[in-house]
Amino acid sequence: MIGIGDDAGAIYTSGRPVTICSDLMIEGTHFDTLFFDQQSGWKDVGHKGLARVLSDLAAMASLPLACTVSLALPKNWSETEIENNLEALFAGITELASRHDCTVIGGDLSRTRGAFVADFAAIGEVRPASSLWRRDEVRPGDQIYVTGPLGGAAMALENLQAGKRAETPLENLKRHWRPEPRFDVASRLASAPVSGAIDISDGLVNDLTRVCQASHLSFELDEASVPLAEGASLQHALHGGDDYELLLFLPDSWHGCDFAQSELKAVGASRIGRVLSRT
Ligand SMILES: [Mg+2]
Repeated sequence: MIGIGDDAGAIYTSGRPVTICSDLMIEGTHFDTLFFDQQSGWKDVGHKGLARVLSDLAAMASLPLACTVSLALPKNWSETEIENNLEALFAGITELASRHDCTVIGGDLSRTRGAFVADFAAIGEVRPASSLWRRDEVRPGDQIYVTGPLGGAAMALENLQAGKRAETPLENLKRHWRPEPRFDVASRLASAPVSGAIDISDGLVNDLTRVCQASHLSFELDEASVPLAEGASLQHALHGGDDYELLLFLPDSWHGCDFAQSELKAVGASRIGRVLSRT
C-alpha cells in the first residue's frame, strides 16, 4: 500500500472485489455540538464519521483497507480551536481505524464560511472465501434478521434535544455518539448463504424497503419481533435510523438448522420477518 506522500494513495489487491464508499458528516445535519459527550466532544465526530462509512463496508462482507478524510473547517474557528478540535477528531479516527487495520492514506483540508463538513471515504476488500453481500440478490421466502437492538441512537438524540440527557441509558448515548461497525458479522457468518445485507443507517423500514425494491420483491415485517434498545419505542426502531446494525437475508432452509441458529445467536441476530414475491 502507498499512503500519504504522493498525489494519490495506491493499493495492491489479490484479485478479490474492492469496495469503495464515502459519507459526509455535516455539523447541524449529522451532529450538533450542543449534544456532544462532554468528555469526548470532537473525538466522537471523528469516530462516528469513520464508523458510518466503515459500516457500509461491513454490510458488504468486506474489511477496510484504507480511508481518506477531507475536512472543511469553519472560518470562525480560532487557531486554538483548530488545534484542539483537529487533535480530538483525529484521535477518534485513528483509534477506530487502527482497531480495524484501516490506514488513513490521505485527504484534504480547507476552510468554509459555513458549518464544519467532513467527507470520509473508505476502500475495502471482500473477505477471503466470502462473496459480496448485495441488495439485489435477495429471494422470495428469505428470512430477515437484524443483528441487534434498534432505536437506541434515535431515542438518545430525541432525549438530548429535549434536555433529558440524565434520563437516557448510557448504552443508547454510546450508540448515538460512537456506533461500532459490525465487521464481526461477516466473519462469523463466512459459511452462511447470505443472499443480501444492508446496514441500518436510515431506519429499519427505509433500509428494508431499499433491499426489497432492489430485488423487485416485498416483505412481511413482524413488528413484535423487532428487538428494541432499552427505553426505545417501536417508532424509534422502525424509523429512527443511525443504528448501524445489519439487516441480513438468509434462505429459509438455513434458518432451520441448529448450526445456523448458533451462528446467528453469536452475532446477536434475531428473525424479524420474511421476503415475499411482489404482489
Ligand atoms: Mg449503508
